[in-house]
Amino acid sequence: MTKRLYYDDPFLTQFEARVMEATTVAGRPAAILDQTAFYPTSGGQPHDTGTLAGAPVIDVVEREDTVLHVLDGDTIRRQRDTIRRQRDTIRRQRDTIRRQREGPAVGNLVQGLVNSQRRFDHMQQHTGQHILSQASLKLWGAQTVGFHLSETYSSIDLDRPPDQPVDQAIAQIQELANGIVFDDRPVRAWFPTEQEWPSLRLRKPPPVREHVRVVQVEGFDVTACGGTHVTATGQIGLIVVRRWERYKGGLRVEFLCGGRALRDYCFLSTTVRGLAVELGVSDIDLADAMRRRLTEAQECRHLAEVRGEALLDYEAHELAATAEAHDDVRLIVRVYEGRPFDEVRRLAIRLADVPGIVALLAARGEKAQLAFARGPDLDHDMSAILRAACAVIGGRGGGRPHLAQGGGPDPARLDEALATARERVLAT
Ligand SMILES: [Zn+2]
Repeated sequence: MTKRLYYDDPFLTQFEARVMEATTVAGRPAAILDQTAFYPTSGGQPHDTGTLAGAPVIDVVEREDTVLHVLDGDTIRRQRDTIRRQRDTIRRQRDTIRRQREGPAVGNLVQGLVNSQRRFDHMQQHTGQHILSQASLKLWGAQTVGFHLSETYSSIDLDRPPDQPVDQAIAQIQELANGIVFDDRPVRAWFPTEQEWPSLRLRKPPPVREHVRVVQVEGFDVTACGGTHVTATGQIGLIVVRRWERYKGGLRVEFLCGGRALRDYCFLSTTVRGLAVELGVSDIDLADAMRRRLTEAQECRHLAEVRGEALLDYEAHELAATAEAHDDVRLIVRVYEGRPFDEVRRLAIRLADVPGIVALLAARGEKAQLAFARGPDLDHDMSAILRAACAVIGGRGGGRPHLAQGGGPDPARLDEALATARERVLAT
């Protein structure tokens, strides 16, 4: 059984312990100590990192009542390669490396060092969670049924949504929770005695009482928890809800505490100020200015579409007026260099409405694309003619007798393809 030093002092990050067992976890060296300040992944809180006898601790896992410290064998191997190149110190350092690689030997005393920034961050998020959970229970009777603490955000899952609008309810929770932070109330964690249990009002009663540790935010919340917490609520700094979503009939609430809330505030204010400067308004007017810009952009897009259609009508009219006359058809043959094919296609659609017209239109870009059309009074099969033209440029296409489109990978032979089509049209 490993004695857990963080139970009594969550701020303890340097400690000395005796190695009880040297083992491996998934091929990596691991050590079991008689006592540890390293918190193992459990109860929704991720493990600590740090070093043990100088070797990086990359994972901390619980196996029944012992704690396993998993060491980074790869890092140790890399260190050894570097050391080989340093001739002056090679002998002394190789001994160190061998000791690290094999993991601490049983019976030896080793120095442990927990990453205190990571630990304190977890303490802030975890204690903030207790306060938010109690605040939602007090304000709308919602129990916390899930807790997740990740690298970037934390979330709680509440078993029911509030009766009032969610944004309003979240604002109330934030106000209540931060009031508890500003009170700087003591946070106490201990294993209660049999005599103490009846007087404890737990947020959620545990299934058993044996070896159950409770965490109390004075005058506000008592709950069973084995995690690490701050010792007074003021250390949390700030609790903010970043976003929420409906989840399994309840609510999933994402939140940030302390340092994370500060970093998020800096990110948001930098973003808001940057946008305000770009739009030439003060940050207070940003939302209105943004809405105005979006409306303007929409209107511009709509206007551009209307104008674009009118231009294509005009262009189709001009094309029809300059068509070359051949007996019963008036022929238009055009190659557009680098023009969007969609425009060419829409021109063809317009020309299919003009009596007596046969239009052989093409766009030349990285590949060749064709759109053929004829007037409603003619009987040329433009689909068959288009297939013949596409065969020349190594592609394919199809459509209906009055309107067809297609393409091919060889734009160099586009003129040849159009000549073929032209011959077919005039021979019909
Ligand atoms: Zn906790």
